[in-house]
Amino acid sequence: MIIAYPDYYNDFCCIASRCRHSCCIGWEIDIDPCTAALYRAQKGELGERMAKNIDWSGDEPHFILGEGERCPFLNENNLCDIILSLGEEAISEICTDHPRFRNYLSEREEIGLGLCCEEAGRIIIGREKPLEIIEEGEGEYTADEDFLMDLRDDIFDIMNEHSQPFSSRVLAVQDKIEGRIEKDNIAYWSHFMMDLERLDEKWTQCLINLVKRPYPLDEIEKYMDEHGVWFANLFNYFIFRHLFSALDDGDIDSKILFALLSCRIIAALCMADESADLETVVEYARMYSSEIEYSDENLGLMFERINKQSL
Ligand code: SF4
Repeated sequence: MIIAYPDYYNDFCCIASRCRHSCCIGWEIDIDPCTAALYRAQKGELGERMAKNIDWSGDEPHFILGEGERCPFLNENNLCDIILSLGEEAISEICTDHPRFRNYLSEREEIGLGLCCEEAGRIIIGREKPLEIIEEGEGEYTADEDFLMDLRDDIFDIMNEHSQPFSSRVLAVQDKIEGRIEKDNIAYWSHFMMDLERLDEKWTQCLINLVKRPYPLDEIEKYMDEHGVWFANLFNYFIFRHLFSALDDGDIDSKILFALLSCRIIAALCMADESADLETVVEYARMYSSEIEYSDENLGLMFERINKQSL
């Protein structure tokens, strides 16, 4: 089995109480069976809190979110009371793993950091070195996996050419596929995303702002060229995370065009904010990722619409 991860993977460390958008707020967190057994066995005050603040009714227990959709064990200092009482090993798998994601091939597991975490976003977007994928172990690939692996390496090689304008690198990547994003109009995609499930009112406001100020594509491209390293990093992230899902549906073009469209949307959001610092890009990328990438339904609808547009 091969384990593969981006070279920045081990740089990540949760910033806990310093995090402005803690993942312990707003997400329903499931508790795996082993951890649930540990929680059930708790006695005293902690045991009572666990009985009261966990929904034990379904197949997979989960924390009952409190005021402001906070995890009931996230204290006023934004620290986890379970870690403070029982240690890090006592938190559920999903809490330990976040913001990591995993993709599986026949004999390969890929692990990455997800953009919905602001600290991961700083590491992913702010890096200046070309992306490298670290591989450990041995394994074989199917012909389809081999083809996609070569294609992805080619895309990374193109995107890693930081001396070239980002727009030229995008053209070189687009030469590898036939599909195109026919609807270049950012307002079209803002309307489309407004019809998707939304989590945060701020996201709705961002989309309204984009409809009011639909930047033409050449202005968006200029912005991305000015910040080519950040957008190449973003492009590589979306390719690393999503290209292999083409193994499930055979649709390679929509995964590559999704990377491009995502960069354009994040750039337009930053432009509407009239800001060009790394923290702004990280914040809009975090919001976009939480709303689109972390909803299987929304992600599927984006791929489907891109595919229809590129026919
Ligand atoms: S979002 Fe990231 S940095 Fe923030 S609390 Fe969660 S894992 Fe830590």
